[in-house]
Amino acid sequence: MTIALALHGGAGTLRRSDMDAELERAYRAGLEQALEAGHAVLRGGGAALDAVCAAVCALEDDPLFNAGRGSVFNLDGKQEMEAAVMDGIRQDAGSVAGLSGVRNPVLLARAVMERTPHVTLGYAAAEDFARRAGLEMRPPEYFHTDKRWQALLAEKERLANGGSDEDISEDRKHGTVGAVALDAQGRLAAATSTGGRTAKWPGRIGDTPVIGAGTWADAYCAVSATGHGEYFVRAAAGHEISARIRHLDETVAQACDAVVYGQLLTMGGTGGVVAVDRYGRVALPFNCEGMYRAAIDGAGLRTVAIYRGED
Ligand code: ASP
Repeated sequence: MTIALALHGGAGTLRRSDMDAELERAYRAGLEQALEAGHAVLRGGGAALDAVCAAVCALEDDPLFNAGRGSVFNLDGKQEMEAAVMDGIRQDAGSVAGLSGVRNPVLLARAVMERTPHVTLGYAAAEDFARRAGLEMRPPEYFHTDKRWQALLAEKERLANGGSDEDISEDRKHGTVGAVALDAQGRLAAATSTGGRTAKWPGRIGDTPVIGAGTWADAYCAVSATGHGEYFVRAAAGHEISARIRHLDETVAQACDAVVYGQLLTMGGTGGVVAVDRYGRVALPFNCEGMYRAAIDGAGLRTVAIYRGED
C-alpha cells in the first residue's frame, strides 16, 4: 500500500542571500527531523493522523519555526497560538485558538476532536481543557525567543511609521507549520499549527484553526496552508482544493495551483500549501519566494527544500 507525507514550516521571502549557511543547515535539519518523525509512523503501519501529529509536534518543539516554542508575538507582546487537525475518513476535526502555555497545541486540537462534542475551543477555556486533558504545559520563557521578540519591536516601529499590515516581506513576521499524510490503509489526515502573524491584534484568529481554510482533509485529499491567513479564510482555500478535485476531476497539483497561483494571488494572498491525495501524489506550491517544505510521496520521491526551483 502507498504511504506519503508532506510538511511545511512556513512560506515567505526566503532568499539564499538572506540566510547564512549555519541557519540554513538548522532549518533543513528541522525539516528532516519532522519528516522522519511522521514518515516513521507511516512506515510502521501507523495512522495518518498519528503521523501528521508527530511531524507537527517536532516542528512545534523546534524554536526556529513559528508554532509552539518560537511562536511570534501579538501587539500586546503575548503569544496566542492556534492549531487544527482533521481526519479525512471520518471527516472529523478539532481546532484551538488564542492559546498560551500549551507545549504542543496540535495535541490539544486533537483532544478537542476526540474528547469533546465541539470542533473549536479558544483562549482560557481551551487552556483549562488542556490541563484537564493532561497535556504538557510550559512557562512563558519556554516559548520566548529573542528573534521573535526583535521581530515584534521592528514590526511595531514599521506600523508606527505608516507601514501596511499587508507587507509580508520578512519571513520573521509570520510562518506556520503543517503536515498532511496518506497511510497504508488509505486514510488521509492534516494538521497545522502556528503563532499567527507578528503584531497581530490580540484575539485575532487566522486560517490555521478555521477548518476548510488552513486545514482540511476528506476522502480525496489533505491540505495544510501557510501564508496571509485572512486570504486563506476568505478563499476557503483547503476546502476549495478538495472541491476542485471532486467536482472538476482535477489532480491535486492542478487544484492546488488553481487556488494558490490563481484565486489567492488574484485576491492578493501570498503563501502556499502542502497537499496529498488518496493516490499518494503530493503538491507543494507557493506563490512567494520560498517555503520551508519536505515530503516523501507515494512513489518514494523525497524532497527537502526552502527556495524556489529546488524540487
Ligand atoms: N497563516 C498564518 C496566519 O495567518 C501565518 C503564516 O502561515 O504565515 O496566522
